[in-house]
Amino acid sequence: MNKGSLVVVSGFSGAGKGTLMKSLLAKYDNYALSISCTTRNPREGEQDGREYFFKTKEEFLDMIEKDELIEYAQYVENYYGTPKAFVDSNLSEGKDVLLEIEIQGALKIKQKFPDSVLVFITPPSGAELKNRLIGRGTESMDVVEKRLKRAIQESEGVEAYDYILINDDIDTCTEKLHNLIRAQHEKAKNHIDIIENVRRDLRRIEDVTAII
Ligand code: 5GP
Repeated sequence: MNKGSLVVVSGFSGAGKGTLMKSLLAKYDNYALSISCTTRNPREGEQDGREYFFKTKEEFLDMIEKDELIEYAQYVENYYGTPKAFVDSNLSEGKDVLLEIEIQGALKIKQKFPDSVLVFITPPSGAELKNRLIGRGTESMDVVEKRLKRAIQESEGVEAYDYILINDDIDTCTEKLHNLIRAQHEKAKNHIDIIENVRRDLRRIEDVTAII
């Protein structure tokens, strides 16, 4: 079985990444969404093991020590990291594994897995981003400010991404993301073995023709 693709989805906080991931998982069954570990407190409605595995700082540092994370980063005031075991097993099962992570983590993933696809999601404008963050109502104004500042910093690393998708309409954005992941599977290097088989067959046919 072919291995799945590793797909990193980043974007400004409030760009709608979470909704996009849910929409992709609801529509198609070839995806597995990695659940990260974090030291931040759960927001209202969040459940341990569903949105994140919520860890203490000590527990998180212990996971780093034991090499159980494929990447981790500090974001605003907390640690976030991707558990290794889930990613490895789902990729081997042929699933496309989605990592919804920030830019430092994305760059580490690209270094470790050069075949991964890095996608950056953005709302159409800065004003729209601020509205969405405030509208969400889950963050204090202080944290909203920090996230907007962080967004400015993040926009500076965006050249490292393979694709930028504008999330204007969730259904359109879902289709675009799904299509570009499918296209990734058809990359030439994933099909070299098929070409080699065809070449071998053709040579065999040529030999037979020569005898006749
Ligand atoms: P939030 O606190 O809003 O859930 O997430 C804050 C940021 O951390 C988001 O940009 C999110 O994509 C990122 N993030 C979540 N999990 C991980 C992870 O495992 N690794 C890294 N590097 N970033 C993560």
